[in-house]
Amino acid sequence: MLFNEIAYGPIHSRRLGTSLGMELMPLEHKLCTFNCVYCECGWNTPVHHPQLPTREEVRAALEEKLKSLTAQRSYSATVLQRSGLSAEDGLDVITFSGNGEPTLHPDFLGIIEDTCALRDQYCPKAKVSVLSNSTQLGRPDVVQALRLCDNRILKLDAATDEMMRRIDLPVNERLTVAQLIEWLKAFDGNFTLQTCFLRGEHAGKPIDNTTPDELEAWYKAVDTLHPKQLMIYVIDRKTPEENLSKISREEMESIAAPLREKGYDVIVSA
Ligand code: SF4
Repeated sequence: MLFNEIAYGPIHSRRLGTSLGMELMPLEHKLCTFNCVYCECGWNTPVHHPQLPTREEVRAALEEKLKSLTAQRSYSATVLQRSGLSAEDGLDVITFSGNGEPTLHPDFLGIIEDTCALRDQYCPKAKVSVLSNSTQLGRPDVVQALRLCDNRILKLDAATDEMMRRIDLPVNERLTVAQLIEWLKAFDGNFTLQTCFLRGEHAGKPIDNTTPDELEAWYKAVDTLHPKQLMIYVIDRKTPEENLSKISREEMESIAAPLREKGYDVIVSA
């Protein structure tokens, strides 16, 4: 599943609410520093010169979308007022995710600055959120951009190198969990940690980030990072690796339970 517009939706997101999606990667194929076995966008496609939208194109697409949503909302408000009802401000969030890793865009910082300004102008109640796989956190401009956002939703799918590599298939095969954790510390816990739990097999190797050893390492990483929120979720759509199975809600709740006992805010999407 690929998104074919720079600004799309709003759509209802099971994790974020009413969300206007922003796409900074190519519209024709996925571009990511991971190649997760569960990615809804499918496998990475090798492309030599990927075409990314320019900062100006992104700003123009967002402004056009926000203008059109504002016009629709004021029309609905008038109709509702005549009926003695009140209108709701519909947009919860402007979300950067889509066909790959949004922080790969070379103008990511400028785009986030533009987005915050347009949000303030057209829909000041909406949050600006970024879903990222954490691999670009070694870049100071990316950290600076993420600090400007309301929500940083940052991935850590496993806390052992072996399982992280089996699940996420990082393009940089030398990437380690220790490095990801070190980068994530830059936010002093002021972020949401996202983890997809799953089981299955890929390329003849088992995948399971719910074993006692994997969970112990992951809980330890959570305590090291102390994120203000955790989003743990299961596979929800068709996956490129078909040999994967979904974790039950009951089991997901039992993974969340020890963290909630310690006072963590844990959202389970299952
Ligand atoms: S990080 Fe996200 S976009 Fe990239 S491969 Fe994984 S699920 Fe897909």
